[in-house]
Amino acid sequence: MEKLCKYGTNRVITPKGVLPQAATMIDNTMVVKDNELLIDVITLNIDSASFTQIKKACNSDVKKMEEMILEIVKDRGKMQNPVTGSGGMLIGKVKEVGKLFPDQSLKVGDKIATLVSLSLTPLLINRIKKINIENDQVNIDGTAILFETGIFAKVPSDMNEHLVLAALDVAGAPAQVDKLVNEGDSVAIIGAAGKSGVLCAYQAMKKAGINGTVIGVVNEPQQILELKDLELCDDVVMADATNALDVYEKIMAINGEQVDVTINVVNVTDTEMGCILSTKETGIVYFFSMATSFTKAALGAEGVGSDVKMIIGNGYTAGHADLTLNLVNNVPLIKRLFEKKYT
Ligand code: NAP
Repeated sequence: MEKLCKYGTNRVITPKGVLPQAATMIDNTMVVKDNELLIDVITLNIDSASFTQIKKACNSDVKKMEEMILEIVKDRGKMQNPVTGSGGMLIGKVKEVGKLFPDQSLKVGDKIATLVSLSLTPLLINRIKKINIENDQVNIDGTAILFETGIFAKVPSDMNEHLVLAALDVAGAPAQVDKLVNEGDSVAIIGAAGKSGVLCAYQAMKKAGINGTVIGVVNEPQQILELKDLELCDDVVMADATNALDVYEKIMAINGEQVDVTINVVNVTDTEMGCILSTKETGIVYFFSMATSFTKAALGAEGVGSDVKMIIGNGYTAGHADLTLNLVNNVPLIKRLFEKKYT
């Protein structure tokens, strides 16, 4: 009899000995093992770094993007972008509950969002129905497997499923901001106009309070106006996050000194040094971006003699789904913003 593994290692094909996230190929046979959950997938939310890379590689040609996504899943048994290494998440309906799956209260047809990355989730795509090039969501006809240790959230019946998917994709970011930012802190959000950017900005303003400062760094002039209108930051500046000195100088010009906490929520590579230079040695840089390079951050900080504390943006932190869904549901300006983009 096959030995079941709560982490899904029994589905790893290559290389042997690694967990499913690190595998280059996993078994996506859609026959549920006793400790697994089978899901009828409705929509994939490809993470922004991955979606941006695919979009760029295909010159925004939706047909080519479709072929690339199908090819990745065929090769790997999961939607893990080989360039960024990242995944995303999905919503779907429960199709079958293995008899040893921990949550036996789940019923066939329950709508859930997985809270583990697509980069480790066995996935089979029969057909791509639609790629929404504006919001990273891909509607498919397909199935997926959740392992025994895979976390998920039920999609609240009073919320639009695409909005829930968008919010939960980045749930770790505002929930970490809640833990990292203290009253009176100065905070820089790099990529503040993006999906996690606005959630982090809201949470940072709330935590830093009236004695703190939240500075949003954005890419385009229009985004300055939008964020100022929404009052999600105390100040908003335009700077290219890949230009370290530009980011540093703009933040210094506003804050007069480096900030206590920097949150990196961009979706492109080469943004590590702007964050490091802009943050106090006693401060924290939180790298949520999946385009972050450990090597560039570690060696870059050493190279400029910075002792800053750097945190890898773990997608999970306790209570992240509740905090983020509450935020999106109960803060009208964020709700309107998400409804406009995702529903
Ligand atoms: P998003 O909505 O696409 O936002 C990214 C933002 O970065 C956009 O506003 C974008 O502006 C901005 N940006 C891009 N290039 C820039 C530059 N050179 N200078 C300044 N701003 C720039 O992305 P998201 O969904 O919030 O995701 C943010 C990051 O988190 C991504 O890297 C994603 O992969 C990652 N992520 C991590 C986890 C985790 O578990 N750690 C989970 C989910 C997602 P434009 O729109 O003008 O380009």
